[in-house]
Amino acid sequence: MEKRVLVLNMDHSPIAVVSAQKAIVLTLLEKANVLTTYDLLEIRTVSRSFSYPAVIRLNEYKSIPYRGVLLNRLNVFRRDNGECQYCGSKKQLTIDHVTPKSKGGKSSWTNLVTACNRCNVSKGDKTPEQAGMLLRIRPFKPSLSYFLAEYAERQASEWLPFLHVKVVES
Ligand SMILES: [Zn+2]
Repeated sequence: MEKRVLVLNMDHSPIAVVSAQKAIVLTLLEKANVLTTYDLLEIRTVSRSFSYPAVIRLNEYKSIPYRGVLLNRLNVFRRDNGECQYCGSKKQLTIDHVTPKSKGGKSSWTNLVTACNRCNVSKGDKTPEQAGMLLRIRPFKPSLSYFLAEYAERQASEWLPFLHVKVVES
């Protein structure tokens, strides 16, 4: 499987993940520098070979208006490790509004959690307090680094020193 390359902004904040080809083009155009390479891997073209970049840093600051993680069903499941936040079940997962919509609860990172169908049904139109159901973790807004770290642990340990994983409250 082809390894991915982590792109850092000029201030070293992670902003993207790209293919090795794209990363090499960026460095050949002198738009980025390689900070770390994958050991024992190289990329060959007809005329030359390159060490395989793992982390590159842009030479110019790129202003990115949205640096968070997209709020959608799949990403809520990922943040919650695919477990019901009330009972820990991994089956029949749904999305629960902690404060129900009918009581003014919003569709936001801090009000959406993964819940199994059984817990969601028994919680119904109540708050966790009213239903007597405790949340395992207070829902939070994950940073991009949070998800990148998850990938890095499985596929690209070279990235880990560059990911400052922190939880962003909102
Ligand atoms: Zn449950």
